[in-house]
Amino acid sequence: MKHYICTGECGGVSDTPGTCQAESCSLHGQPLVECDCEDGEHDTINNAEGPSPVNPQTNNQ
Ligand SMILES: [Zn+2]
Ligand SMILES: [Zn+2]
Repeated sequence: MKHYICTGECGGVSDTPGTCQAESCSLHGQPLVECDCEDGEHDTINNAEGPSPVNPQTNNQ
């Protein structure tokens, strides 16, 4: 199910598009990133920050 996440330290997750609402987060006010992972690990975060060096948990779809 698609959701929207903050890639900052707050780790916020929202069901709808928006911006980070955590005032203490470095990404406060920044747009949330679309993610559709099903395991809650938000692979989008890793993809957004560059190639993962090692990912032993490769899931077949
Ligand atoms: Zn945040
Ligand atoms: Zn996710």
